[in-house]
Amino acid sequence: MLNGKTALVTGSTSGIGLGIAKALARQGAHIVLNGFGDVDSPRAEVLAAGRHAGVRVSHHGADMSRPAEIEALMAHAAAEFGRVDILVNNAGIQHVAPVQDFPPEKWDAILAINLTSAFHTTRLALPAMLEANWGRVINVASVHGLVASAQKSAYVAAKHGIVGLTKVTALETATTGVTCNAICPGWVLTPLVQKQVDARAEQHGVSDEEARRLLLGEKEPSMQFTTPEELGELAVFFCSPAGNNVRGVAWNMDGGWVAQ
Ligand code: NAD
Repeated sequence: MLNGKTALVTGSTSGIGLGIAKALARQGAHIVLNGFGDVDSPRAEVLAAGRHAGVRVSHHGADMSRPAEIEALMAHAAAEFGRVDILVNNAGIQHVAPVQDFPPEKWDAILAINLTSAFHTTRLALPAMLEANWGRVINVASVHGLVASAQKSAYVAAKHGIVGLTKVTALETATTGVTCNAICPGWVLTPLVQKQVDARAEQHGVSDEEARRLLLGEKEPSMQFTTPEELGELAVFFCSPAGNNVRGVAWNMDGGWVAQ
């Protein structure tokens, strides 16, 4: 379905971004990976997912908190594949603390990586998408783009911000073949969330399994984690012809979190 298209997924060496990259590769899109840490195994996973379609995979290690490196990432994608057809703004970090104790440098980093980076990638990707009259911008927000939780001021502010950016981008492209939508996951058991499980296990002196149950029980009525694979399939839907007129939505996949 996406043969000949190119998808850039930020923060895709792990977790949700990797799940989305694999789902898009399975549909035939060439993939530009981005993110830190081990690159060989995520690259191998994405190549395997797209092997049947002759998918090519490239990686650029831009730090998404740095606008100059984001420009280099976009230039790399254009040089390797011509243009970015599908932009998935997924890179994100978390820090939990009450507002009065929140380290200002953590605030700045969360806003830069979880929100401002999406402004830069979007502004740089849109001209070629508009020229081709086809494009998909998919912002990985969160349920925290729709509702708040204590201790997450920077994260909630950034995620509400990216839902706003999603709507504006959708309006500005509304008469074109470019769409922009947000995905709002509830709990997904990635390294980002495992840290919060570990903190809970330590705080309550309970097992990892019990800490996971506590975490889910607080917020997620389904008592199930959403998976990167499920989120990947939602991204594939946004890229499908059925998604042509889906514009500016913030689609939660959250086990009922926001229905409460
Ligand atoms: P993760 O920690 O597994 O992966 C984060 C990815 O971002 C990694 O590839 C990492 O290398 C990359 N990254 C981090 N800082 C970066 C930077 N400065 N520059 C470039 N890459 C950077 O996290 P995840 O849980 O997969 O989260 C992915 C996105 O999903 C984030 O935006 C997060 O807020 C969002 N999200 C996660 C959950 C969840 O429950 N895990 C829920 C809702 C939303």
